[in-house]
Amino acid sequence: MSVLPEVLAANDTYAAEFGERGSLALPPARGFAILTCMDARLDPAKYAGLSEGDAHVIRNAGGRASDDAIRSLVISYKLLGTKEWFVIHHSDCGMEFFTDEVIRGLLANSLETAALDETGFHDVGTGPGSQEAAYIDWLTISDQAGAVVDDVRRIRNHPLVPARIPIYGYVYDVTTGRLVEIPEATKVGATA
Ligand SMILES: [Zn+2]
Repeated sequence: MSVLPEVLAANDTYAAEFGERGSLALPPARGFAILTCMDARLDPAKYAGLSEGDAHVIRNAGGRASDDAIRSLVISYKLLGTKEWFVIHHSDCGMEFFTDEVIRGLLANSLETAALDETGFHDVGTGPGSQEAAYIDWLTISDQAGAVVDDVRRIRNHPLVPARIPIYGYVYDVTTGRLVEIPEATKVGATA
């Protein structure tokens, strides 16, 4: 069963009530960007109080400062004028539950969805898999707060990122909905 009909029905309702949002400007009205995880429990519009047109939200697995996340952030300030950035990881992130070695092994075995239990991910498929996973840095996380600091530092030190943009580091608590600051990250991300 596909979710396609549900998604299209929801969009019909949304578009029917779209109203003034059709005339929003392209640059984000509130001038900021959030880099955060794709985790389905996180809704940046809700946890950070965003409406359409307010801010850029860049998402990937882990909310990591990958080359592509930095590409988006650079476009965000250089062409669209954002002035403050947030890196927001979260508790209970799936990226803490495997390593490059594990996901490479799973994908080498098969392309089926792996099973997760208390001892970790296990491949339940029959092959073929692919060795291509060996060429990807999966940017897994062993220490959540440390990863926020690492990502803020990478963005801060990037030659295409101006020193005037403050970068704040937070971990979203999936059990309370609260943003918990990582002071070391915010310190590293401070403006020069
Ligand atoms: Zn996550």
